[in-house]
Amino acid sequence: MDTMAKLEILADAAKYDVACTSSGVDRRGKKGQLGAASAAGCCHAFTADGRCVTLLKVLLTNVCCYDCAYCVNRRSNDIPRAAFTPRELATLTVEFYRRNYVEGLFVSSGVIKNPDYTMELIIETARILREDEGFRGYIHAKAIQGASPELLERLGFLVDRMSINIELPSQSSLDLLAPEKSGQAVVRPMRQLCEGIEQSKQDRKLARRRHLSASVKSFVPAGQSTQMIIGATPETDQHILKLAESLYQSVSLKRVFFSAYLPVNDDSRLPELNTEVPLTREHRLYQADWLLRFYGFSADELLSPEHPDLDLLVDPKANWALQHMDLFPLDVNTASLEELMRVPGIGVRGAQHIVRARKCGRLGFDGLKRMGVSLKRAGYFITCFGHMAPGFDADPELARRSLEASTRATGAGRKGRRKLVEGQLALFDEVEQANVDPFRAKRGGDILLQRARAQRLEAHPAELQKLGRTPSGLPQFDPLLVAAAGEGKEHVQA
Ligand code: SF4
Repeated sequence: MDTMAKLEILADAAKYDVACTSSGVDRRGKKGQLGAASAAGCCHAFTADGRCVTLLKVLLTNVCCYDCAYCVNRRSNDIPRAAFTPRELATLTVEFYRRNYVEGLFVSSGVIKNPDYTMELIIETARILREDEGFRGYIHAKAIQGASPELLERLGFLVDRMSINIELPSQSSLDLLAPEKSGQAVVRPMRQLCEGIEQSKQDRKLARRRHLSASVKSFVPAGQSTQMIIGATPETDQHILKLAESLYQSVSLKRVFFSAYLPVNDDSRLPELNTEVPLTREHRLYQADWLLRFYGFSADELLSPEHPDLDLLVDPKANWALQHMDLFPLDVNTASLEELMRVPGIGVRGAQHIVRARKCGRLGFDGLKRMGVSLKRAGYFITCFGHMAPGFDADPELARRSLEASTRATGAGRKGRRKLVEGQLALFDEVEQANVDPFRAKRGGDILLQRARAQRLEAHPAELQKLGRTPSGLPQFDPLLVAAAGEGKEHVQA
């Protein structure tokens, strides 16, 4: 099979993986070497189904000895199979880079023979690129679950970002749909990466002080991410957000990617083939995830056992505000930065602008408009000099109706499912630009870590287990959630 035929099969097989976005790595070109990586991110364009395309996104092979129920590449599927050699994939990446088709490589793989063998192939690909070809562009590699820690470490020194897919949001779902995988086999390497990244940062800091930074190699400088499929199994949004929150806190993930389930296999363990997972659910989860990472919200504030799923008609921040109308309206001239960030229609930057601007004088609604605050959304929740904007009232019903109407007007909240796009890569096809990614703001600090530490319950693990809660107050006992929270190892083994 020639390289182009392999590429067609393996690029198509990679389109189900959503875990790739901006690089976060800033590395300038070097004389005699090839390429550079920009902190602004490699992924500037998105296919019609929301996948980014400026990385060469491909599987090393779609041969797999596992049989995950939801996966098109599972061993029991009768599909065309192909495999690149490491040299072939490295050459292809360099050729595409030189032609300005791509800015880097995103490589994942089916499990060929066993996890260690597959990891060695991925490592060899990255090694050829970095050492033989002098490639300084961006590389994002998927680590293979179950591979040895030594291999994980070797790969970490060659790539910019690594991800280990958690795949499903609970251990029971993994047992049902991917019995050869375990939550522990995901969380353990995540922890190793987290420690390695931290250690590497310290080493580089020390080396910089001694003017020796060139001698210290970076370890996964763009951090780690993961992906989970939503809608194939019955977990609630609350469970999914709790898991994401635990992962951000315990292993410092850069991103958790949510992928609305796409039915590709007819299997009695899965929802029926014509099942529609609303894309809006995926979108709402991303919005909630954004609130966790940059707005200081916790999963418990956004969802509760009584309301375990996100509202599809109103975004999570507006929904939270509507449920807490007793805290509103806030006067923009006196509210704190944290309070302003919780007002629908005011983002992090908007809140910062307001706080800065009011040092120079009192703010009115015209001033807010000039700062880009969306009064249509914020109007129900704020006052200026004690007065609400003309035409607005702090009435939750009115506010909800108006916010739902604006959702309908923008088309969000529709039921819909992602269409499979044949031949995803833009290398061959015309693609629509940037029509999906709702989250392009810059990264913020890790507010969550401090909050979680402050809120951690002090009770004995055994007592909490009796109550069906983990030491972080997780709502139900799931070994994957507990492992992600980095606690109760004895529970996991039990
Ligand atoms: S291990 Fe990965 S490629 Fe193999 S069947 Fe499972 S999800 Fe698919």
